[in-house]
Amino acid sequence: MKIALVTGGNKGIGLEIAKKLKKLGYKPVINYFSDDVAAKKACEEFDFCSVKADVSKEEEVNKMVSFIIEKFGKIDLLVNCAGIALKQKVLLDVSYEEALRVVNVNLMGTILVSKAVLENMIANRSGIIVNISSVYGEKGGSCEAVYSATKGGINAFTKALSKEVADANIRVNAVAPGFIDTDMNAHITKEERESFCKELPLKRIGTTEDVANAVCFLVKNTYLTGAIIPVDGGMQC
Ligand code: NAD
Repeated sequence: MKIALVTGGNKGIGLEIAKKLKKLGYKPVINYFSDDVAAKKACEEFDFCSVKADVSKEEEVNKMVSFIIEKFGKIDLLVNCAGIALKQKVLLDVSYEEALRVVNVNLMGTILVSKAVLENMIANRSGIIVNISSVYGEKGGSCEAVYSATKGGINAFTKALSKEVADANIRVNAVAPGFIDTDMNAHITKEERESFCKELPLKRIGTTEDVANAVCFLVKNTYLTGAIIPVDGGMQC
């Protein structure tokens, strides 16, 4: 049985990725930070295993990874999907604490969970890591400067780590979504959505399925590493 750890897997994009990975033959272990009810529901409905842990805390991450390896013996695939965004605002209005939290969850979380699974993957001389970045990681989003910085960091981390671990037969790639319909964007009004869609070449907001399909493509294609795949409807920012 192949084991996949999906961080932020109890809802939104992460849940859809876990569902699609199951269809590819993986046993998904979903990590999450809040909403025990959603995690329990996903486990019951889809036969997942769940682990609650804050990806920004090294001790919790290491405990989570040790638990999975003790239970299943290995981790074949890691999808770093856990992430947060602040309400859109200019940098001058972002507090030190808010900025640090976004950096710690999005960027440090990706680094810490990757580091924690690597020992097992290197010992097995096999592994796949897929990071969920954002279109803003390359293009930058106005009033999303800190979030954009974390996703740009994830892009650089993906490329650098892919070179470092290729010898151990470990591939590291990323998906960079545009505007996807999840709770992260629940605050955006109907009017804002409509005007945003008009600007988009593909004229629609993305779905969690669009992102999950790209993750599966990266998982299946064994000749891809260090790639950042945009799934953004042609968004120019
Ligand atoms: P969401 O709010 O629906 O889900 C976020 C997930 O991250 C939840 O499962 C939550 O429990 C988890 N999480 C948050 N903080 C955590 C922490 N400290 N430790 C562990 N888990 C934590 O959002 P989503 O839209 O599904 O976002 C998933 C990923 O996709 C994020 O990395 C986000 O930046 C990225 N993304 C989303 C969009 C979009 O438009 N929705 C666009 C580009 C990138």
